[in-house]
Amino acid sequence: MTRPLTAYTGRAITFATMHGKELLAHDAFQNTLGATVTAATGLDTDQFGTFAGDIPRPLSPGDAARAKAQLGMQTAGTTLGLASEGTFTSGFGLLVENSELLIFIDDTLGLEIVERSVTTSPVAGGRRIISADEALTYASAIGFPGQGVILQGTQNHLTTAHKNITQLEVLGDTVDALLKQRQSVVILPDYRAHKAPSRAAAIRALCEHMAQRLATECPDCRAPGFGHINVEHGVPCSFCGSATQAVAADIQGCGRCGHQTRTPRNHAHADPEWCDHCNP
Ligand SMILES: [Zn+2]
Ligand SMILES: [Zn+2]
Repeated sequence: MTRPLTAYTGRAITFATMHGKELLAHDAFQNTLGATVTAATGLDTDQFGTFAGDIPRPLSPGDAARAKAQLGMQTAGTTLGLASEGTFTSGFGLLVENSELLIFIDDTLGLEIVERSVTTSPVAGGRRIISADEALTYASAIGFPGQGVILQGTQNHLTTAHKNITQLEVLGDTVDALLKQRQSVVILPDYRAHKAPSRAAAIRALCEHMAQRLATECPDCRAPGFGHINVEHGVPCSFCGSATQAVAADIQGCGRCGHQTRTPRNHAHADPEWCDHCNP
């Protein structure tokens, strides 16, 4: 196999992670760019907040990812960094939405590139339980122990998270113990990448997009990372002709010089269902 020659061939990239995310980026970055992704050792990314709810997340996902990436680069002494940040929200009914953000930073070129995705998580959201049996049923339904769970015990407004349980028996015993102490107990999925196969898949897909993107040069300044940054709405309504929310074009941009290109999506008209006039 011939090695690809890109701006990042032979370069070392630091993924700021404690949860094995470097493994999700490794192949794509190696095969597409010839770059090596490794994790920063001795890093505490929990300081930016946790899914377990024991440490709050004060920063926006984008700011948290940037801060993590910079910390990883500092720790490892590299000028190239990666970090990701995930958010889980249950909007309607039982559906849980997984928003993922992956940031790449190149300190030498002054580049910052972000890839995002939104997927429906196949894992049901957390719930309060009042027996060990309920915990075991929930855990089995979401694929435990491949998919991890977290127990939150709350008493007098003080919440303690119990993570890293890998056996049903231990899970049941922990629930029993918490309930015996009259704690209120919530069971929820462990969304950390090494404990959540569906989230790991979403991050892996983002890493593939990022590697592809870093292999694409800006047509204007030749900086790596030219790619999709936005969409343009406004396809005319087929009934009344006014601009709708339907996407008319994709916008590609450079992370360094601001150069942009526009690719129309070839929809001459939009269904009136998308029209604020016809379907307010
Ligand atoms: Zn209309
Ligand atoms: Zn450019």
